[in-house]
Amino acid sequence: MERRWNGWGRTDVAPTLPDAALSMLQARLGDGVPLGEATLEQALSHVPPSRLPESPHWSLCPELRLRHARGQSLPDWLALKSGQLGHYPDAVAQPGNDDELRTLMDLAYKEDLVLIPYGGGTSVAGHINVPQSERPVITLSLARMNRLLHLDPVSQLATFGAGVAGPDLEAALNAQGYTLGHFPQSFELSTLGGWVASRSSGQQSLTYGRIEQLFAGGVMHTLTDRWVLPTVPASAAGPDWRETLLGSEGRLGVISQVTVRIRPLPEQERFCTSVFKDYDQAVEAVRTLIQNGLPAGMLRLSHPEETRTQLALALSASKKQWLDRYLSLRGAHEPAMLVWEGGQQFGAIRRHLNRFGAVMHSRTLGGHWHKKRFHAPYLRDALWQSGYCVDTLETATDWSNIERLRRAIEQSLRSALACEDQPVLAFTHISHVYRQGASLYTTYLFPCGQGFEHTLLRWRRMKHAASSVIVEHGGTISHQHGVGRDHAPYLLTEKGPVAQGALRELCDHFDPKAQLNPGALLEEPQCEA
Ligand SMILES: Cc1cc2nc3c(=O)[nH]c(=O)nc-3n(C[C@H](O)[C@H](O)[C@H](O)COP(=O)(O)OP(=O)(O)OC[C@H]3O[C@@H](n4cnc5c(N)ncnc54)[C@H](O)[C@@H]3O)c2cc1C
Repeated sequence: MERRWNGWGRTDVAPTLPDAALSMLQARLGDGVPLGEATLEQALSHVPPSRLPESPHWSLCPELRLRHARGQSLPDWLALKSGQLGHYPDAVAQPGNDDELRTLMDLAYKEDLVLIPYGGGTSVAGHINVPQSERPVITLSLARMNRLLHLDPVSQLATFGAGVAGPDLEAALNAQGYTLGHFPQSFELSTLGGWVASRSSGQQSLTYGRIEQLFAGGVMHTLTDRWVLPTVPASAAGPDWRETLLGSEGRLGVISQVTVRIRPLPEQERFCTSVFKDYDQAVEAVRTLIQNGLPAGMLRLSHPEETRTQLALALSASKKQWLDRYLSLRGAHEPAMLVWEGGQQFGAIRRHLNRFGAVMHSRTLGGHWHKKRFHAPYLRDALWQSGYCVDTLETATDWSNIERLRRAIEQSLRSALACEDQPVLAFTHISHVYRQGASLYTTYLFPCGQGFEHTLLRWRRMKHAASSVIVEHGGTISHQHGVGRDHAPYLLTEKGPVAQGALRELCDHFDPKAQLNPGALLEEPQCEA
């Protein structure tokens, strides 16, 4: 598989925007402003010479350094498309096993080098961006440590090299009749180590749990030691140190092995799309479903604004017309769409949804969603070619706060470019549900500005407006994407000074000279985003 150097995913997948979607965007946002993109050769011409000598422990190859300099946030995209990435790692190291990794860590410690652990590079919060640094910076990719090391069928545990990407992990488990069931939308490229280090959540977390529930133990290399976290099913032996690795974002050490809790492959999965007449009722349906203990495998509820946009993106004009007419006849003038998985309880769940005004259930649309579930990020490139930017943000809050927060986030985004008289299209779905509350996932689209700088300024305005609203309204700054550099400024408001102080002490304990991914998770004054 060849990976795009300046966009999402594989180079052989390149979807186009349906005409109806483009017309809708033009009507809502005005004409797109295509900014074009630099060629790889142009981008390579900006890579400076490395400050490190040649070494068997790392590569100085300019293209490799370029390809590991950024993640997938919108600022990363703008940097990649413009071909000017600002800072680049001086080298990329790709150790093949724990011994090679240990040697590298020892060397980095001794020589005072900065290390940025790198999984799949799918961060959308600036986690792996290279800070400005007086010291040489090495991006440390786990890509070669990607094998199934051990499978214990009795305890249903599997140990992998932390650099294993989603498809390889599932293929190895499926071959033996098991699954991890962790399917973030970035599944094609993100890695097990990255999931742990950034507290990831997969689309079917309702069945399988978040990575916190799946992570049983593993190995982390700190700057000075190899730290083994044993697997026990549960323990009252003081604080659980696995929690320290979860969300550590490369600040404490490099996770080299991860043991996960696996399950036999499910006998049956039944995905379905249901449509409700009324969004508020649909929210009630989802909340009561989970609180009544009906075991749905996933629940993803789109607000009518998102439903309209998704249908425009997914269906041909004639099919969309037919569906609009049908839903209108059923009284769903502002339809809200729920994608769910019902397994053995399919019938019971459907009956529950009917009680809250579901007017349509389609296994065909549900199956289509399942088949295409990793496809949506590819549309980002199609939008870019048409002169539009798309970004997402996410949070979680209690049920009693969910609507207030959704409205506030969307409003903050829609009005963030009012000073330019530029509308913003913003819409939300509830993506992960819990008895206590749910996560909100908001997508926002806007035309590119007059050049890359102006587009970045637009993004900054929107991101700051929405992030401030999230923490001020009692949401978490991230339910699944992590903190990185983009969310670090908002962490203090969420955690408070006591927790923030303790976190800093923890980082200082493991990394007294700030060599490990400085600037991620906790702001460092000397770092640039
Ligand atoms: C299109 C798209 C869709 C996404 N959908 C989801 C989603 O559904 N759910 C979700 O949770 N996230 C999602 N994300 C965000 C991202 O995929 C996750 O944060 C993912 O967990 C990152 O994994 P990675 O391997 O790419 O890590 P990277 O991006 O390479 O790194 C992320 C952080 O983890 C650290 N890290 C990585 N590996 C290690 C290691 N072995 N040891 C120590 N530290 C390490 C890095 O230093 C960095 O701080 C999405 C991103 C994109 C671009």
